[in-house]
Formats: sequence, C-alpha cells, structure tokens
Amino acid sequence: MSEEPRVEMYTKENCSYCEKAKDLLDEKGVEYETYNVTGDEELFDEMVERADGRKTAPEVFVDDELVGGWDETSALERDGKLDEKLGLAVADGGETDVEHRKLIVSGSGIAGLTAAIYSARSNNDPLVLQGDEPGGQLTLTTDVENYPGFPDGISGPELINDMQEQAERFGAEVKTGIIEDVDDTSRPFRVELTNGDVYTTDALIAASGASARTLSIPGEDELMGYGVSTCATCDGAFFRDEEMIVIGGGDAAFEEATFLTKFAKKVYLVHRREEFRAEDYWQDRLQEKVDDGDIEIMKNTEVTEIRGSPEEGVDHVTLVSNPKGKPSQKLDDPETEESHFDVGAVFLAIGHTPNTGYLEDTAVELDEEGYIRTEGGKGGGQTKTDVPGIFGAGDVVDFHYQQAVTAAGMGCKAALDADDYLETAELGEASAVHEGAAASDD
Ligand SMILES: Cc1cc2nc3c(=O)[nH]c(=O)nc-3n(C[C@H](O)[C@H](O)[C@H](O)COP(=O)(O)OP(=O)(O)OC[C@H]3O[C@@H](n4cnc5c(N)ncnc54)[C@H](O)[C@@H]3O)c2cc1C
Repeated sequence: MSEEPRVEMYTKENCSYCEKAKDLLDEKGVEYETYNVTGDEELFDEMVERADGRKTAPEVFVDDELVGGWDETSALERDGKLDEKLGLAVADGGETDVEHRKLIVSGSGIAGLTAAIYSARSNNDPLVLQGDEPGGQLTLTTDVENYPGFPDGISGPELINDMQEQAERFGAEVKTGIIEDVDDTSRPFRVELTNGDVYTTDALIAASGASARTLSIPGEDELMGYGVSTCATCDGAFFRDEEMIVIGGGDAAFEEATFLTKFAKKVYLVHRREEFRAEDYWQDRLQEKVDDGDIEIMKNTEVTEIRGSPEEGVDHVTLVSNPKGKPSQKLDDPETEESHFDVGAVFLAIGHTPNTGYLEDTAVELDEEGYIRTEGGKGGGQTKTDVPGIFGAGDVVDFHYQQAVTAAGMGCKAALDADDYLETAELGEASAVHEGAAASDD
C-alpha cells in the first residue's frame, strides 16, 4: 500500500450511512472521491460489480480493494485498524497518550447531543463520543413528525445534524469513538475506547441508547426506513391503508400491532412459536382486534426475507411455518412450508438491547436487561447513577417511553446534574490517580 492510498466511496442520495462514512473519513482528514449512484444505472452497475454483487451504498474502496459499507468501515475503526488501512500514522505500541476532559458524553443521539448543548453552555467543554451509530437511532428514520417545533415534520438526520451544529456552536467537541471500558475505581475516571485511545474524565454522561434487535435476514438492512421499521409509533402513519406485518410475541409486539390498526388495512402478527410472552392485558386487547378482523395472528411462522426497493418500499416477504414452531431452524422438515406474502410494511418488535457493555465492570447499577438504573423521582439529581459523577440519559435508562423528545429531556437533566456535580464535587487532579477518592455529590 502506498503512503497515501486512493480512497473511493460510492454513495447515494438520502443515505444516512453514506453521510456517516463521509463524516468518519472527514474526521480522519483523508482525501477521497465520491461517486453518487442515484439515477445513474451505469455507475450503479459498476459499484455492484466492484462490490462483489452488493447492492447497498456506501461502498468504500482503498487502493482498489473493497473495504465495504458503513458496517465494515466502522468495524475497522472500532478495532483500531482503519488508520493503518488509510495510510495514517498508527501508534507505535508505546505508552498511549491520555487526554483529560472535564466531561465525556457517550453517544451522539438526541440525548447525548442535548446534554452536549447544555453542558457546552455551562462551560463544561463536553467531548461527545459517537459510538458505532453516529447520530443514534433517529438517523434511521426519514420523517420525524412528533418532535415539537416542526409542524411539517423533519427528517431524523437533519434534526440530528442541526443539533450537532448547535452543540458545536457552543463549544462541544464531537468525535468518532466507541467506549469499551470505564474504570470508576479512581478519580478522574479512566475511559478506554475500542481503538486504543484513552481519556480521563471528571464526569460521564452515559447516553448510549438501546439498539432495537433485528433479525439479520436478507432485505432488512437495505429496506430499513423504507418500509422496514423498529418503531410503529414513529413510522406507522406512513403506511396508511397498507397491509402490515408485526414480528414478535411480547408486549411490544402486541402493543404495536394494536396501535397499527389505526392505519393499516390489516395487521398480521407473525410469531415464531405457539405461545406468546405478552401480558394477559395485551393478549385481551389484541384478541378484540382479531375478533373485529383488524388483526390476524400467524403463529409458528417466521419471516426469512424481505423484498422490495428503497424507491418502491416493501413489496413482499418470504414466510416459513411449521406447526412445531421455530420454522427457520427446521427448513428440511417436510412439515415446513414456505410462502410469499404481499405486504407494505414490516415492523420488528423483538426487543431492544441497551448499550451498556462498557459499564458492566463499574459500580453503576444496571437492571436485569442491562438498562441503567438512575435515581429518578422528583427534584434535582434524577439522572444520577450509583457512581457519583456518572449520569444516565435517554433510551439507555428509559426502556418505557423511548421517544426522541423524552430522550432529549433526559439529556438536558443529565447535563444540569453533571454541572451541579462538577461545581461541587471534590475532583482529583487530572494527572493523578486517586484510589477510592469517592467524590461527594452534595
Ligand atoms: C426507525 C426509528 C424511527 C424512530 N422514529 C421516531 C420518531 O419519529 N419520533 C420519536 O420520538 N422517536 C422515534 N424513534 C425513537 C428515537 O429514535 C429514540 O427514542 C431516540 O433516538 C433515543 O435517543 P438516545 O440518544 O437515548 O439514544 P440513541 O438514539 O440510540 O443514540 C445512542 C448513541 O449512543 C452511541 N453509543 C452506543 N454505544 C456506545 C459506546 N459504547 N460508546 C460511545 N457511544 C455509544 C450510539 O452510537 C448513538 O450515537 C425512532 C426509532 C427508530 C429506530
């Protein structure tokens, strides 16, 4: 590889992952060429050929070698291998430089960016680390119609970009970086990133969100935001009068299926087993809709592929069913049947996983599913965790509401709580290690 490799990226319009890939390369300061394949069939075919048949953008190449899309590019960054691939100077294996920050915010979703706006305005110089989903979940949706202040709605990426700009205007720094580990046994806290960078910080706001679980089936990634969604409350209204599938068997799936009957021609609840996990309350409500003919239940059935295009949306899905359940694990069983099913939208309601792996070795209390437990209640300090100086905000705490406006509200609270802490706590010297110097919170 030459000193300055040639970096190329195929992109398309309205592609949030293309923007993320560009932001990452911009942050690295590398030169790259972009080719926009939207409306250019020849260029699209060229991309597909060079990308070994993959039909998604972005596709990144370094010195003619396929790196891949956002997932592959960000994975290289996460593993600390991207710099080497891009011909950038890499650490020589010696002592890692440790930078001290007054406040680190983990996550650049709406909670993290709101926290950054408030913290920057309080002169706490926040460093926002973006994680592997810069901009968070809202970057996955084209229209946000319930965020106050936008009577005509706003696209998720636009809202997030504007918030980031607003935070930066007040001095927040937003950087690529995924926190791997936090050491809370000393003050300042030690924060290690997956790429090997290390920071110390006086306070940490954990705003790392919760990722909706997905199925990893063909068509799912490509059509996410184009008829495949993990949020019925957010996207249901866009598919008015269409037939819709909800996948899942717990409370969330039942609630979403019931909610979607407001818009859908008909809702099909697809569940891979015979029994449901949903509470009786939801089972009763859903049964009423079944009795009215608004919902049909498909038990022992799984979706194995989603077909369609970003332009036309979802067209149909492939279903497999087997009377003994979990049919995708029994494809060779003669009782397993496969069929195609026309549908306009697919909603995944198979749960969320909070992004709290990096806090597991700290004294921050997590619930049985991994969500951060904060003090809550009334008055100040609602976002405090068990560890003075670590605060939680947004979906990583709130498994119930999980909305943009509630996450933003908690980001604001966390910034104010962190400011109180930074004003009043006895903080150790940045360069020194203060074993057990638990800072007072009041
Ligand atoms: C498709 C879709 C559409 C939606 N539409 C709407 C809507 O219309 N209206 C609405 O109100 N809500 C909507 N929601 C819900 C809304 O997006 C969430 O409630 C909101 O984004 C939560 O914000 P957050 O900042 O708490 O977390 P997230 O948005 O999940 O952001 C988490 C951030 O933390 C980062 N992170 C994760 N792990 C680490 C780590 N180890 N180190 C550093 N950073 C890390 C991630 O990269 C990301 O930047 C939608 C959700 C989806 C999935």
